Amino acid sequence: MIDWSSVALGAFSGIAAVFGVTAIAIYPLVRRSYLLWGVARAIFFTAMVFALFPLEMADGTPERDDMLILAEAALALGAGATGPFLADYIEPKIRMGRARSWLFAMLPLGVFAAIGSWIGYYAAIFNRLHDLALLTCTVLLAAGLYQAIKAGSRAARFQIFGWGPLIAIGLVAFSYELILAQDLPYWPYILLAGLAVDFVVTATGIVDGFVVVQHERDRALANIEAAKLMTVTDSLTDIANRRGLEQHFSDPVRRRPTGLALVDCDHFKRINDQFGHDVGDKVLCAVARGLEGDHIFAARLGGEEFVLLLYSKNWQEAAENARRRITQAVRDAVPELPYPITASAGLAALEATDSLASVMKRADRALYAAKEAGRNRSLSLTEFRPAGSLKLA
Ligand code: GH3
Ligand code: MG
Ligand code: MG
Repeated sequence: MIDWSSVALGAFSGIAAVFGVTAIAIYPLVRRSYLLWGVARAIFFTAMVFALFPLEMADGTPERDDMLILAEAALALGAGATGPFLADYIEPKIRMGRARSWLFAMLPLGVFAAIGSWIGYYAAIFNRLHDLALLTCTVLLAAGLYQAIKAGSRAARFQIFGWGPLIAIGLVAFSYELILAQDLPYWPYILLAGLAVDFVVTATGIVDGFVVVQHERDRALANIEAAKLMTVTDSLTDIANRRGLEQHFSDPVRRRPTGLALVDCDHFKRINDQFGHDVGDKVLCAVARGLEGDHIFAARLGGEEFVLLLYSKNWQEAAENARRRITQAVRDAVPELPYPITASAGLAALEATDSLASVMKRADRALYAAKEAGRNRSLSLTEFRPAGSLKLA
């Protein structure tokens, strides 16, 4: 002979325990109060089930009346906790006006109903008040869900399946009790089935919401990374911009470059003037492609000025090769240009005490010298010192 009370008790407390453990496991990750209200609901409803389906004691205790009062009180508290649960569970971005405060009002109503079930034992009017308070809770819950779904809440759509049966059972049971003044037949079992559906669906909804939040978080992090990359990238040529250069230079995990080259296209204005700004832009992109190479970090300072951080031992040769590559890269990318595009470069070796600004200053003076000397060449200051004609050091 199967003891259905024990089966119901065991099955329900198992479901409620799984729900509670899920909520507690997720709480440290999302820190939302609905999880705690959810655990409170699980505790109240489990207490209710233990009161409705008490394990047989040898001496016939506990008293059935005491247990019924306890069950009604626990049911009222569980129903009351459902309001704040839903108010916080609905996604914060969902605007539902006053409906959230109505939901919070369920908590004092639940507490009132719980007290009512006790006093109702002595004064029947409180039994009626208890029923009325619970009925109001049910209506508030239905109204809150309706508002949330109207406002587009995914969580509330889930809860319709979790609470739909309970709301229906509640409305039928209370109407039955109010009209016929007697309990709905088999109501403890019907209620238990409704609650089991509630906990299974609600737990699924919570996990679903958690997964959605994780996805949103991952997407937001990816967007931040993309935005960060944009702030250090030159939008025309896709190589680093000035900020990217500064960041790369001062990055403590990278070793310092051996030298720096400041590269400036020769007579660039002429390209714009003769062929238009669009062609000028195409040339700038080709220049950037030509400057890229092994052990080189290329950045566009602005206009037609580029900086190379050079990491190889023979860095001057690497800079000169990069400068020469420009002509071929532009020829390949913009074949309509009738003459070769050249660039000049100012080179500066990186001293131990150099900041980016100080080494760039020397490279700039060398670049000026390279332009003065007839363009289409690389020069470093040291190459000029012996000549003595230019006071550059
Ligand atoms: P030099 O050989 O002395 O360097 O002569 P230059 O004409 O290259 O020098 P200048 O600095 O006078 O001219 C640079 C030109 O670069 C001026 C400006 O129209 C052009 N320029 C600056 N930024 C851009 C850009 O983003 N796109 C295009 N197409 N042109 C640009
Ligand atoms: Mg120029
Ligand atoms: Mg220039």
